Amino acid sequence: MRILEKPNEKIEEYYNTCISKVRGKQNRAKLGNYLEQILTAAKDYDLKASKHELFKFTNPQGIDGKALIKLYTNQVGKKNRPGRYLYNQLMELPVNTKCPFCGIGRVKELDHFLPKSVFESLSIVPFNLVPSCRDCNQDKKTDFPRVAREQTLHPYYDNTLDFQWLFARLIEKNTGIIEYYVDVKNIQSPQLASKVKEHFKSYDLYSIYRDSAAEELLGVREQHQNLLRDTNSLNLIKQLKKSESSFKAVYKNSWQVAMYEALAGSDWYTSGKAFS
Ligand SMILES: [Zn+2]
Repeated sequence: MRILEKPNEKIEEYYNTCISKVRGKQNRAKLGNYLEQILTAAKDYDLKASKHELFKFTNPQGIDGKALIKLYTNQVGKKNRPGRYLYNQLMELPVNTKCPFCGIGRVKELDHFLPKSVFESLSIVPFNLVPSCRDCNQDKKTDFPRVAREQTLHPYYDNTLDFQWLFARLIEKNTGIIEYYVDVKNIQSPQLASKVKEHFKSYDLYSIYRDSAAEELLGVREQHQNLLRDTNSLNLIKQLKKSESSFKAVYKNSWQVAMYEALAGSDWYTSGKAFS
């Protein structure tokens, strides 16, 4: 889970840009008449998202939802259309193209954080558009939170960088299995803590991270085994802690940090039993 800088595009200008090349004078005029509702929806969304209350968002009255979805599809989703530039800008937000929802996949599409099929007024509202990998976007589809506890982390609003809350333990089986868990006791805001837990469950990050760690563990196995053979447990622990701290310097809650921390804390691993 990563955070992204919230887009600061002027909604009114962006909306007018998007409708500027819509075919038919009447169609354009009709969409033009929705500007007030779009601005109201955007303001309401922004306020609710900042207070962990997006589950309370409702569409403003008096809009043709289908026309707004079509506006997104034709003027933002397609290449060389007037609203496309923002699509491209947002897709470039993530560092190293990493998906902000899982931190593993490559961003491939724009996700409507609250789905446009239900919240049509948010079809082209910039801070409802979040770059996502295909898996995260597909898994979510038209799902949205109906109550507070169903809310997941919003990459533009929810800052989870201050504390470590992702941890792992090493299961002493075969060559070792890294099992992840979330501990939110350091997160002061109960709403944010609840979102972290729900996020992990709903994006299935426990198994995604476990699988990534399994691959990494295989890759470093020989190196650790040799270090233990040539020196001793203390040096292996030192090496593991170095890996942990170097990943931690980039992002406290990466699966790598939790993995190396768990390995360093496991006697089974550092005494060499995992390699026999
Ligand atoms: Zn993803």
